[in-house]
Amino acid sequence: MNRRKFIKNASLTGVGLAVGNAIISCDESDSKKNIQENNEAIADLQGLPLVIATWHVKEATAKAMEVLQADGNSLDAVEQGCRVEEANEKGQSVGKGGLPDRDGNVTLDACIMDKHGNCGAVVYLQNITHAVSVARKVMEDTPHVMLAGEGAKQFAISSGFKPEDLLTDASKEAWEKWKVEAKYKPIINIENHDTIGMLAIDKNGDISGACTTSGLAYKMGGRVGDSPIIGSGLFVDNEIGAAVATGLGEEVVKTVGSFLVVELMRQGKSPQEACEEAISRIVNKPNSNYKDFQVGYIAVNKKGETGSYSIHQWFSMTKFQNGVNEQIQSDFFNKA
Ligand code: ASP
Repeated sequence: MNRRKFIKNASLTGVGLAVGNAIISCDESDSKKNIQENNEAIADLQGLPLVIATWHVKEATAKAMEVLQADGNSLDAVEQGCRVEEANEKGQSVGKGGLPDRDGNVTLDACIMDKHGNCGAVVYLQNITHAVSVARKVMEDTPHVMLAGEGAKQFAISSGFKPEDLLTDASKEAWEKWKVEAKYKPIINIENHDTIGMLAIDKNGDISGACTTSGLAYKMGGRVGDSPIIGSGLFVDNEIGAAVATGLGEEVVKTVGSFLVVELMRQGKSPQEACEEAISRIVNKPNSNYKDFQVGYIAVNKKGETGSYSIHQWFSMTKFQNGVNEQIQSDFFNKA
């Protein structure tokens, strides 16, 4: 047993300890069977499958749960869930209808990561609504993990995606109003619904995650945030858990936030404790101006425990587990 497995097993309780013993006592030929049996035991005991997402996105989590309940895998679930919000023109921070950059261009960032640690991402993607699906194609159909800009768009079109204008009348109007003063300032909790980050565990106990966004409204042309950056906006380790971020991407990137959350869980922290520690790394930096921006994390561990935490109030997580699809207000740091 390597150190990685030892730490994982040591941090599990109950059923988890049985997993550990099974791994210690079995030989290679038995190990697959044992892991499968133990995954089933964990699923029975801990209410799997489950899906969580940033913000209030019950239709998206419902879609993901529909996939999981039909014995779909967690990768299909997070992709399908994110697509619901990408197609929702009323959501002005994801996919079609996303608010543009300062020049009026809607540019999308997205990534996806599976149970094997495979990942794909697109950055500065224009004219394609379902950025998360293009990210999946990058993962599955190319030797690369990330495509940007025109290359990403051409790849999407050659993969069968239909180009379209993503700037809706409502987003154009908002941009025109913004242009009057043209002041760039990150907005905390913009319309209570920013980047969609989604994490799911399927009936086999396997974890996947995805993240999709139009990025910060009125950003500089060419700006890319945390959301498509594996380790910052999203990270999945199928032996430990997964995390996803929302908020001011620059601050998430500087602390490699989602990877940090997963590594903290590896060291034994609960998802809640890990999210809190990752936020404390941001707010406790010398000269941190955290009062001016929001960052939120959600996380899940292999046992199906979840957590969420943000700098400011009004961040929320949507969680679908045991037949209940609910919005949960996140605890937060800035209570002053
Ligand atoms: N994290 C996203 C970005 O920085 C934006 C957001 O979640 O609001 O692009």
